[in-house]
Amino acid sequence: MIKIILPDGSVKEFAKGTSPIEVAKSISEGLARNVISASFDGIIVETVTPLLTDGALILYTWNDEGGKKAFWHSTSHVMAQVLEEMYPGIKLTLGPAIANGFYYDIDFEDQKITDADFKKIEDRVLEISREKHEFKLRAVSKAEALEAYKDNVYKTELISNLEDGTITFCDHSTFTDLCRGGHIPNTGIIKAMKIMSVAGAYWRGDEKNKQLTRVYGISFPKQKDLTEYLTLLEEAKRRDHRKLGKELELFAFSAKVGQGLPLWLPKGAALRDRLEQFLKKAQKKAGYEQVVTPHIGQKELYVTSGHYAKYGADSFQPITTPAEGEEFLLKPMNCPHHCEIYNVRPWSYKDLPKRYAEFGTVYRYEQSGELHGLTRVRGFTQDDAHIFCTPDQLDEEFKKVIDLVLYVFSSLGFENFTAQISLRDKEDREKYIGSDENWEKAENAIINASKDKGLSTVIEYGEAAFYGPKLDFMVKDALGRQWQLGTIQVDYNLPERFELTYKGSDNELHRPVMIHRAPFGSMERFIAILLEHTAGNFPLWLMPEQAIILSLSEKYENYAKKVLNSLENHEIRASLDNRNETIGKKIRDAEIQKLPFMLIVGEEEEKNGTISIRRHGQEGKGNISVTVDKFAAIVNEEISKTLKTFTV
Ligand SMILES: [Zn+2]
Ligand SMILES: [Zn+2]
Repeated sequence: MIKIILPDGSVKEFAKGTSPIEVAKSISEGLARNVISASFDGIIVETVTPLLTDGALILYTWNDEGGKKAFWHSTSHVMAQVLEEMYPGIKLTLGPAIANGFYYDIDFEDQKITDADFKKIEDRVLEISREKHEFKLRAVSKAEALEAYKDNVYKTELISNLEDGTITFCDHSTFTDLCRGGHIPNTGIIKAMKIMSVAGAYWRGDEKNKQLTRVYGISFPKQKDLTEYLTLLEEAKRRDHRKLGKELELFAFSAKVGQGLPLWLPKGAALRDRLEQFLKKAQKKAGYEQVVTPHIGQKELYVTSGHYAKYGADSFQPITTPAEGEEFLLKPMNCPHHCEIYNVRPWSYKDLPKRYAEFGTVYRYEQSGELHGLTRVRGFTQDDAHIFCTPDQLDEEFKKVIDLVLYVFSSLGFENFTAQISLRDKEDREKYIGSDENWEKAENAIINASKDKGLSTVIEYGEAAFYGPKLDFMVKDALGRQWQLGTIQVDYNLPERFELTYKGSDNELHRPVMIHRAPFGSMERFIAILLEHTAGNFPLWLMPEQAIILSLSEKYENYAKKVLNSLENHEIRASLDNRNETIGKKIRDAEIQKLPFMLIVGEEEEKNGTISIRRHGQEGKGNISVTVDKFAAIVNEEISKTLKTFTV
């Protein structure tokens, strides 16, 4: 008999040689019908692989990442079969699953695959799939494998690097491929398939090698899933923050300034400023104190912090000065500066916690290929803060930080999130610094605070940094994509390295604990996510411009200016479009700018002392005519629905 540990921690005994699918059947027939892949002790196995030892088994369905991986990788086998059929003599190399779908890298030699062939390939893949071919893994000797692929230099290279006795082929239908496994039971469940694109890719990613053709595809168990996926892709393209950032005139990049260095245009800068003021106000209430530190620091500072040893080689290199021996680094993080602020004077336990906040701009070197809009840049501003507290205060401080993060999310319309708690590896306690007692305190503080605040949590063992456990908020945006926002990290390392102390009630010196936290993460990345989440329709309180006055003709300029003036008195951000254009054109332009309110003024309005409101995205002329005072009340009421006052 063998003992099988299931993900819920339960242990069941089975006869040696029982397969994952048989284990699934013993749990329920329904589960067995849905299981399409499995992993055993962390290694992907086939659903029919006989299990010979004790171990931990995870069964995957389409709803698991593991299930999708097997589904997509298996489809790459069928696609490769079809491509071999349609382009005889091509040389297959590797065909893995990726985050969304799969690809196969192929040497087409003198043949060429074009868009016009995609439909034919997709139809044939589905035709073969409908025949319900089983995927069967078969062990082969190295000699056999080399013989089978003697005309394929790529597979020959792959096989040469494998150890004899570990090599397997996978057969389905008339097709065989070198493969170590990870397949769905049979092709029958592949019900929809699409080739997404083709691109060039060097063999093994090395540009000295031959360029192959990478064929990207995706597949689903239902046609409906494919349709939904394609709709989502279109929507994501429409919401791309780089596109919206340009349309809304928020930010730009200049090749002259340098790649990965965003330039904030007036509207974008105002948006940033509004976000900063919003957080500063809440932080002030939560007992934070603002500090300001320079953009550079002596190299020695980062040697002390340990950042230099860890990241120095892959960072912007030191800046030297005309004086000999002076070396500075662009600040890659604000923590060391804040530690030195703490060190300016001695502290007693009665003074703690100290909470230092700074919108600190930092610089990190990213390879040019890694740069992406505002989400991967070389210079960005963190909404950073460091809390220095006693170990006994951790619990309370953690809860307070969670409150602040939740306030940020609710004010900005992020409703769907989970808290991921990263703790130590249960098995390997050696690699973490700090005493066991302190770690337990910190880990419990995070777990209790999350429970106390009613967060839905996932615990990841072994994901903690060597210097402390952390909590990340994983936020789902309007398109269901997951983003990591709002990290809270406990740190025992920097207080040690910077020799931070406070005098305890016992009159002895102790080390404070440090919490790093950033609800937004960085202003750049946060605004990018917010743009894609809201498609540019920010909450009203945040909109750079809340209203625009559209005059029916130049005749009403004086009245329009009067309206603008009184809007300003009501602290409503507005502008005036007094161009000699038709009202239709003015409305269209305001719609592109996603301005929430269009206020139309003409003869009637001037006579009655009113404005006619038209809302963004709503057809028809503004049908409510109201006074400016009434309009201000409408705006304020709408703002108060999302933006509440932060209370502690
Ligand atoms: Zn395979
Ligand atoms: Zn920090």
